[in-house]
Amino acid sequence: MNLLQVREMMLFTAEKMVESEPELTALDQVIGDGDHGIGMKRGFAAIIVLLQNPNFNAIDIGDLFNQIGTKLMTSMGGASGAIFGTFFRAGGKSIAGTTDFNAETLSKLLNDGWQAVYQRGNAKPGDKTMVDALAAAAKTATELTSAKLTDALPKIVESAMQGAENTAQMIAVFGRAKNLGERSIGHKDPGSVSMAFILKYMNDYLQT
Ligand code: ADP
Ligand code: MG
Ligand code: MG
Repeated sequence: MNLLQVREMMLFTAEKMVESEPELTALDQVIGDGDHGIGMKRGFAAIIVLLQNPNFNAIDIGDLFNQIGTKLMTSMGGASGAIFGTFFRAGGKSIAGTTDFNAETLSKLLNDGWQAVYQRGNAKPGDKTMVDALAAAAKTATELTSAKLTDALPKIVESAMQGAENTAQMIAVFGRAKNLGERSIGHKDPGSVSMAFILKYMNDYLQT
């Protein structure tokens, strides 16, 4: 995929994330303070404005993701603004100079983005956060670096979705859900669902 195609893919993804607000809100109402959907909607609405601006300019695909991260960080607020902002910024920086987005660059974006999220927030897989979707996606991406992007991404999405599903069995150790302790069991972490949705919508665009 070239820069223009990735830009279109992220615009589509942003539109779908805005539409996902009610579902994400519902999840955070059960386990958090109910603002996750609103935060994601605000962030991705800002991404739509950014990417639709005729004066928008990215030097390469890494810069595109970096700018998306900066915009999320400055528009969203909340724990997830910092976390998802860090993910896209660090992931984008790690693929600086990229003009062809493929399974290998996606793997680098996911793995380096995940490491930066860990540096920032200290959540490990199993802590019931977006890291559970991200780490699962990154692991599958690592195994598929030589595949075609159209073959790799569906499998990466599947892993991310499974990672988000798995959070229902975990006890939260971060954010407000931590206060629920064992009562957080049975409910999915909202951020993990957002992470899986982002990848799902990227794939939906790719497959059409
Ligand atoms: P807030 O918790 O400030 O209300 P949101 O509701 O928007 O923010 O986002 C909550 C989500 O952020 C959680 O579902 C979780 O996935 C993610 N999150 C919170 N803390 C961390 C962390 N330390 N590392 C990774 N993700 C985190
Ligand atoms: Mg919240
Ligand atoms: Mg909040």
